[in-house]
Amino acid sequence: MTDTSKIRIALDGPSGAGKSTIAKAVAAKLGLVYVDTGALYRSVGLYAIENGIDADDTDAIIASLDKIDIKMTYENGTQKVYLNGSDVGNRIRTPEASKYASVVSKIPRVREFLLGLQRERAEEGGVIMDGRDIGTSIIPDAELKVFMTASAEARAKRRFLELEEKGMPQPYDEVLRDIEARDKSDRERETAPCKPAPDAVQFVNDDYGIEESADYIISLIENL
Ligand code: C5P
Repeated sequence: MTDTSKIRIALDGPSGAGKSTIAKAVAAKLGLVYVDTGALYRSVGLYAIENGIDADDTDAIIASLDKIDIKMTYENGTQKVYLNGSDVGNRIRTPEASKYASVVSKIPRVREFLLGLQRERAEEGGVIMDGRDIGTSIIPDAELKVFMTASAEARAKRRFLELEEKGMPQPYDEVLRDIEARDKSDRERETAPCKPAPDAVQFVNDDYGIEESADYIISLIENL
């Protein structure tokens, strides 16, 4: 079995591929720390929302970075993000925060701002980091890079069922349209677009459940 205490695993892919759920399952089984990098972009977006900054106002978003202090901690194996000393909690999980995260993540200065924090965490090792550019930009020399995706329809179906379960139903066509729009924005942006690193293992998980996907990633780690 591979020594996982210093391993760095980059798990990239589009929204709704199940990255966070699967990464958490892998982390729990192997005693790794799960690092959710989307939460950092969401926190920058949250600052803009809570300070009345318009999503289109790139200059104001860039200027706001001087007033933002973001810290990541791990409490009982769970990541917490503090924005200027306050735990962001579920405030970063609203549809508006998703929209803002997608907008701020296109701004190169925002990506630079969050780079050091992510690299420092990666350097400690024993991590599985989920994002869009972990394998291509944050840890290009990661021991394992996985680019995980599923068809837009499969991802929309999962998201549709999840929203229904949470009591926040949304028509399927709308869910699919949102996913396609976020895919396009993540894929086509100039800085750090969401694409597989040349040496990433590409994993299309349309026909896999969570447990099966986690087991597949664990098998990749065991075979390193
Ligand atoms: O993963 P999550 O959906 O929480 O990410 C929120 C947004 O942050 C994504 O839509 C994406 O645009 C951006 N993101 C990114 N790079 C990462 C992680 C997230 O651009 N490493």
